[in-house]
Amino acid sequence: MRTKFLIQLLAFALLCAGVFFAVYALFPEKWLDRMHISKEQEQEWGQTIRSWMTEGEDVIQHPELDSALQRIERRFRTADTLQYDFNFTVIQSEEVNAFALPGGEIVIYSGLIAHCNHPEELAAVIAHEMGHAEKQHVLKRMVGAVGVTTLGQVLGGQNGSVVSDVIQELVLKGFSRSQEEEADQFALLLLKQAQLDPGYLASVFQILADLEEESLDGVPEMLMTHPNVADRIQQATEFAVKNPVETVELNISNWENRGNWIH
Ligand SMILES: [Zn+2]
Repeated sequence: MRTKFLIQLLAFALLCAGVFFAVYALFPEKWLDRMHISKEQEQEWGQTIRSWMTEGEDVIQHPELDSALQRIERRFRTADTLQYDFNFTVIQSEEVNAFALPGGEIVIYSGLIAHCNHPEELAAVIAHEMGHAEKQHVLKRMVGAVGVTTLGQVLGGQNGSVVSDVIQELVLKGFSRSQEEEADQFALLLLKQAQLDPGYLASVFQILADLEEESLDGVPEMLMTHPNVADRIQQATEFAVKNPVETVELNISNWENRGNWIH
């Protein structure tokens, strides 16, 4: 009798544990809120991942490029909705891409800068990546995949490189559909608040979509997950029509000669 009770108790405990892990896997963000990962910690982790991912890459430093990126960030600061300090790293590459890491680290490939006809288009991509950072999308994916303890060990340099590969994979793999939509919405609002035309998000999607059709090379982060690009162009265009903005141009001098900054 007693044994039967113990078996039932054990079965119940296993069921509870199963439910716990199922819920944890489904809603990592809910747990993230309770883990109290400090901003400083998150920024440190972001810097570590950035150094992994840019190792051996040609990182571009050019005063005019730096000042262009700072001008874009300053403009977004006027919106007063950003919680993170942002740090931009530009990598020399023909790839047309950018991605966000935890804690405000944003990596941009120079191919993207080359293909943006207007600085406002680059600003629109940055606003989208800022959305991923501000909503902690990468951190949520990483915590959901490996758990906060392992994450801390790996990023603190106390664990093997296998998990670090997993983390880098996650960063490059793209986000869920709802996370993409959230980043788009964030970008549209931020552009509006910063007196930039939200329609530039639509035009940059068009540039990316045209490029994707031309080549079978890597898919840009912004297009990697499923919200259909035509739908996203339509949503951005509709938002721009419904939210007329008294725009103030970014006025980045020498944008036409940006080829000189990025080789
Ligand atoms: Zn995205």
